[in-house]
Amino acid sequence: MRTALLTIILFWLCGIYPAQSQDFSAGFSIHEIPDSIWQKMQGKTYQPNDVIGRTDLRYLKLMHWDYDGKTHYGEMVCNRLIAQKLIRIFIELYRQHYPIQRIRLADEYDADDERQMRDNNTSCFCFRKVSGRQHLSYHARGLAVDINTLYNPYVRTDKDGKQIVEPATGKPYCDRKKNFRYKIDKGDLCYRLFIKNGFVWGGSWRTVKDYQHFEFHP
Ligand SMILES: [Zn+2]
Repeated sequence: MRTALLTIILFWLCGIYPAQSQDFSAGFSIHEIPDSIWQKMQGKTYQPNDVIGRTDLRYLKLMHWDYDGKTHYGEMVCNRLIAQKLIRIFIELYRQHYPIQRIRLADEYDADDERQMRDNNTSCFCFRKVSGRQHLSYHARGLAVDINTLYNPYVRTDKDGKQIVEPATGKPYCDRKKNFRYKIDKGDLCYRLFIKNGFVWGGSWRTVKDYQHFEFHP
């Protein structure tokens, strides 16, 4: 009798979750900032300020896929306002085998943006100013994500007409007509998912091009 009942429950569950081999949600989770992470962030991605505090931020565990065909595990700190959106986006990127090389906390690079970009890191929160400017970046509020940063550099022309590329090693990837790995293009899966979730792409900006950058305006 008991076995029969268990069998019925099992079939019922299978009906509700029909062969959920595509359900990756266990590999993606949202947490309040754990003590160990909070300590790691101090003096690196986190600086004492009046704009953003620990309770505004969330710690995400993410899975991502790369060209080696394997599942990789990443971690990210973001604003709680976009935590759910990022989980949705990264589940879909993973499901569709969109290649992302690494997703580490910028603290692993001592919050040195040039270093993490040279390493093609993908990240979100870092309390810092916009490159070459005085105002805070959307990263400072955990509302911007940089994806595959070496292959999708930040490009602008300074007052003297000189081209500034960040990271400096990203120069070969400034020509967006070329085809290469990890490239973000208008209309591709990564672009579509971020736009669908209300983000703006830095690759669409007119004067500055920030191909790695998606930001959310709450
Ligand atoms: Zn950015």
